Amino acid sequence: MDRSVYRPQWTLAELQAAPNFTYASRRFVHAFEEDGDRVRVRSTSIDGGTEECHEGRALVIAAGTLGTAWLVLRSLARYDTPVPILCNPYAYVPTLNLGMLGRTPCDRRYSLGQLTAIVRVPGRIIQAQVFSYRSLLTFKLMKELPLAYRESLRLLRLLVPNFAILGIHHEDRPSPDKLCVLRRGERGAPDRLEIQYRPSEEEVRMHVADERLVLRFFRRLRCVPLRTIRPGHGASLHYAGTFPIPASERELTCDRDSRLRGTRAVYLADGSIFPWIPPKGLTFNLMANADRVGTRLAELLA
Ligand SMILES: Cc1cc2nc3c(=O)[nH]c(=O)nc-3n(C[C@H](O)[C@H](O)[C@H](O)COP(=O)(O)OP(=O)(O)OC[C@H]3O[C@@H](n4cnc5c(N)ncnc54)[C@H](O)[C@@H]3O)c2cc1C
Repeated sequence: MDRSVYRPQWTLAELQAAPNFTYASRRFVHAFEEDGDRVRVRSTSIDGGTEECHEGRALVIAAGTLGTAWLVLRSLARYDTPVPILCNPYAYVPTLNLGMLGRTPCDRRYSLGQLTAIVRVPGRIIQAQVFSYRSLLTFKLMKELPLAYRESLRLLRLLVPNFAILGIHHEDRPSPDKLCVLRRGERGAPDRLEIQYRPSEEEVRMHVADERLVLRFFRRLRCVPLRTIRPGHGASLHYAGTFPIPASERELTCDRDSRLRGTRAVYLADGSIFPWIPPKGLTFNLMANADRVGTRLAELLA
């Protein structure tokens, strides 16, 4: 409410006020192709399934890292060709905040991240965010307690304000075992992105050591870790790095303007272009880069 948290709909509303802006919603884009100085986009209307073709001088794709990978690899017919994929590894750790014991919790607490912690170690940083359990659901904890529901509920009402939940995020860099490949759908089935994400043993060791370091600092703040939960690869949802802007020129990468190499005027404006990702959530960086791409393209097309 009241625009206190950014949503893309606010930007869309600003754009819709411009006379030279058209919003074609509820289309599924399935391919693009270049023809001379034009780019064509093929899409299907979700209402009625009619096929459409839209044409322009340039195309900016921001379908999310996975959506863009699917669309680019398909449009360039690069099936069975691995491209890198990144996703911040993370763990979350419920802690008992001893400082809250015996105190009356304030009910008007913000339910998003309460605090961000940055720990610098040589060559990298580690990032942790603290949430109160207020934002989550008590019934999810109730089933974990070895008590009857009524007793569990009473106990949790007393305990929940004393929990502080940490989300600990790590940076991510490409490696030969983090790949994304487009496979051609057989017998009319849709094309499918196949993803393999295996961090090296060295990376896993580093994550565990870094998490211990972060938890040491939180113990000093009297937050006692109860358990470390690893939700699995891909769970941070911070996807990036499929067509990066690298130091050297390679196919299936972007140049410094975020133009996809091998195309004349197809630009990527989402997580695809990042060669690595820091541990902090990537969305502000995505927005800053999308703004940069739009500004640059407006200059080029002027
Ligand atoms: C539960 C959750 C919590 C998160 N929390 C955080 C956080 O705290 N901090 C943070 O930084 N990030 C967070 N993220 C990640 C964040 O949401 C993403 O980084 C961000 O939304 C990516 O923006 P994007 O515009 O690149 O892609 P998206 O937001 O995914 O937008 C892509 C759009 O393209 C459309 N699309 C895709 N393919 C096609 C196609 N073929 N045709 C037509 N349309 C298509 C999709 O429908 C979608 O609307 C979170 C994500 C989730 C799911």
